[in-house]
Amino acid sequence: MRAPDDAASASAQPTSSPARAMSASADATSSPARATSASADATSSPARATSASRAGRGPANVDLHSHSIFSDGVLAPAQVARRAHERGVDLYALTDHDDLGGLEEAAREARALRMRFIAGVEISVSWAGRTVHVVGLGIDPTDAALVQGLAGVRAGRHERARSIGAALDAAGVPGAFEGARRLASNPGLISRTHFARHIVASGVCASIQSVFQRFLAEGLPGYVAHRWAALEDAVAWILGAGGTAVLAHPGRYRVNDLERDALIGQFSDLGGEAIEVVSGSHTPAQYGEFARIARRHGLAASRGSDFHGPGEGRVELGELPPLPETLVPVWDRWR
Ligand SMILES: [Zn+2]
Ligand SMILES: [Zn+2]
Repeated sequence: MRAPDDAASASAQPTSSPARAMSASADATSSPARATSASADATSSPARATSASRAGRGPANVDLHSHSIFSDGVLAPAQVARRAHERGVDLYALTDHDDLGGLEEAAREARALRMRFIAGVEISVSWAGRTVHVVGLGIDPTDAALVQGLAGVRAGRHERARSIGAALDAAGVPGAFEGARRLASNPGLISRTHFARHIVASGVCASIQSVFQRFLAEGLPGYVAHRWAALEDAVAWILGAGGTAVLAHPGRYRVNDLERDALIGQFSDLGGEAIEVVSGSHTPAQYGEFARIARRHGLAASRGSDFHGPGEGRVELGELPPLPETLVPVWDRWR
């Protein structure tokens, strides 16, 4: 199983070096991104088409999954918010891995831009020996149980990072822990993506994806099994903080149909309310597959790019197609 824990970019496409990513972000104003958002006319943008078909009710372009430097993204929270706004997003959530530190900055920027903001988080969960992700949306970032629970998850993350560094040392890639730590703006959150970016920058591999294929995926020399939060705890923290629990990118988990239905059934029984259907971590074929699954389980649906940085990942902020019309959007509750 390729444990898709903190590495949204791992499953995704080609990637650029951190240097390139940073320079791309630095001149965001002149990037093609800007051109796209400027031309957000009703005919060409799928998201706008949705809003037209819904007769102007609710938000037009929703992106409820993104990362900043508070986890393994490459942009500051305010930069991610600004980029979402430039691309026409009008309901936006920052969902860093296991950390709430970027929410205040993102909320402030969204307010200045008059873009609706939803406070979010993406919690790492161990379920039946696999790593799955649960997004919490509309959470109270000051909720004590949530804050404390995430601190526990982050502590485990640091130990894991040290173990990955040791495993990579033994595999002939020395100094990877220090390299990853230098790239992690949040010292409490060193992820496999940071290791991968470091290994690409040092010239050992050509892309983040190839680092995962050579070193970091399960069964490879740099893989370290790890126990994250329990599913029931993650959902309870989110609900206790007044939030809505959404199963992130269910198409990324290496499970068979029975296991997938068991995971979604348990998640729903625990109080989970939605699954991501239109996700930057899904293929277009999976949009239809998970639309059917959401309907079958009576769950609402979410839409999110899982943006980590310019040039990383399959899609940009706000650029996914709309949710299939027959689904209940998870954001209906915030209208
Ligand atoms: Zn994820
Ligand atoms: Zn994510």
